[in-house]
Amino acid sequence: QAEEETFRFQAEAAQILDLMANSLYSNKEIFLRELVSNSSDAIDRLRIERFSRPELAGDEDEGEPRIRVSFDKDAGTITVADDGIGMSRAEVIENIGTIAKSGTSEFLRSLTGDQRRDTALIGQFGVGFYAAFIVAERVVLTTRRAGLPADEAVRWSSDGKGEYSLENVERAERGTTIVLHLRDGEDELLNEHRLRSIIKRYSDHIARPITVGDDDSAVNQASALWTRPKSELKDGDYHEYYRQLTGDFTDPLGHLHAKVEGRYDYTLLLFVPSRAPYDLWTPEPGQGVRLHVQRVFILEDSGRLLPRYLRFVRGIIDSADLPLNVSREILQGSQAIDHIRASAVKKLLRLLKDMADGEPEKYAEFWTQFGAVLKEGVFDDPAHREDIAGLLRFTSTRSGGEARVSLADYVSGMRDGQDKIYYLLAPGLSDAAASPHLEAFRAKDIEVLLLDDAVDNFVVTGLAQYEGKQLQSVAQGPPDFGAMADEAEKEAAEQADSAYAALLGKLKAHLEGKAWDVRVTSRLTTSPACIVANEAETDFTVARRLRGSGL
Ligand code: ADP
Ligand code: MG
Repeated sequence: QAEEETFRFQAEAAQILDLMANSLYSNKEIFLRELVSNSSDAIDRLRIERFSRPELAGDEDEGEPRIRVSFDKDAGTITVADDGIGMSRAEVIENIGTIAKSGTSEFLRSLTGDQRRDTALIGQFGVGFYAAFIVAERVVLTTRRAGLPADEAVRWSSDGKGEYSLENVERAERGTTIVLHLRDGEDELLNEHRLRSIIKRYSDHIARPITVGDDDSAVNQASALWTRPKSELKDGDYHEYYRQLTGDFTDPLGHLHAKVEGRYDYTLLLFVPSRAPYDLWTPEPGQGVRLHVQRVFILEDSGRLLPRYLRFVRGIIDSADLPLNVSREILQGSQAIDHIRASAVKKLLRLLKDMADGEPEKYAEFWTQFGAVLKEGVFDDPAHREDIAGLLRFTSTRSGGEARVSLADYVSGMRDGQDKIYYLLAPGLSDAAASPHLEAFRAKDIEVLLLDDAVDNFVVTGLAQYEGKQLQSVAQGPPDFGAMADEAEKEAAEQADSAYAALLGKLKAHLEGKAWDVRVTSRLTTSPACIVANEAETDFTVARRLRGSGL
């Protein structure tokens, strides 16, 4: 056997190793994700290389390639082994020793000092292997390249402090075995349950079986559900998967599963839950859509992979051609993401429309849970305003307290000659229903939408009109019945103005500085008087709310 040789890491490698050991501890479990993902890559690469080098094909009875994770309590070690393509001596130096890859310096430049963020970057800049040093004081990698003889295997070993050693060894099988000698204090990782749960959490969708300890059954699903053809999957499969993904034990209201090939290749598997999570209204909800690049979990995001107004959606986006260095920041500017996001929005809005049309009761449940979030899309996403407008549901003077009136319903119930969609903003539905502003509309049997949600003002402002019908507040300016006002009424109003001119004069004088104007109105049928907003001003309710919020 050739004796051991010692090499120095390149400067950058040493820097990264130091970082792993000293400052990326808060998310230490990811070391396993990285090693498992490398093993999975190695198995994929072997499969691909066999197409061009048939001599690499193994025995018929070789069995399915797998990734084995084991641990030894007494020795204080965790071992990750695969029967993938392995590495030659030159490849070990190139891939593990040098770190001359372009990702390395970019990784170092991207570091922020925020541990959570920085650990998320590890897997994305091609420095995943070094994550082993987060938990290990010494790492020993033994590998034999597929196609090379048993005595051309290599052992690489390092304590991550600037040097590594290489020696030639014998190894009966192809593939790679990595032994982590854990640091003091990491004994809690030497536990089957713990390792299984880390794998479940980070590597469930690795398409190769991962086993832990002596148990030969896979811990992970071993086939990413979303990679399977739709025709093979039943609702039950999707629901099961959803439960496992989200921990939500109720079935989702709907899901969409689409495999798209073209300029960008990606798969979407998205769910509409049946209940809002507790943190839906926090500025940065924790759960969202999980981004995978070729089945490897990269990050979870609730506001960038999809627009904020769809932040209740859960599921997976798996991209085949996103760059490996995808970080949250890079997502913002990625054309692939823009494309995937636009297509996901379109498909989700279509899913909701189909639900609204085909299963109105289910859609009503959806609206109760997430309507207030979806509404934000009216002003946040002008490009889809029309589609979202069709999905809105309102309480109205005719809906018996239920939010079930769509704008299309409203329009089809309009009176002859009515050309506006009337609404009333109020702090609560009971206030709204009791409002004197409604009297004249009730008398004429004109439906009024009752809006009591904080965002509704932005919704009506954002919409402005629906199918050419202007949205009009009933509490702003003189009641405007448009073409419905009859001549007799107009005349009566003018006569009233002159008949009450003296009274109006006195009231105006009395309210000097408090009211813009005092007018005779036809809007009331039973109440003697009401306060309305000046046409040019913010709607009264909005003004009150803005004051309430201290603006
Ligand atoms: P990345 O996986 O992004 O390339 P890593 O630091 O995780 O970066 O791994 C570096 C390289 O080391 C891999 O690209 C691969 O060539 C090699 N490698 C790591 N683990 C294995 C393995 N189990 N089998 C074969 N090659 C491996
Ligand atoms: Mg890797």
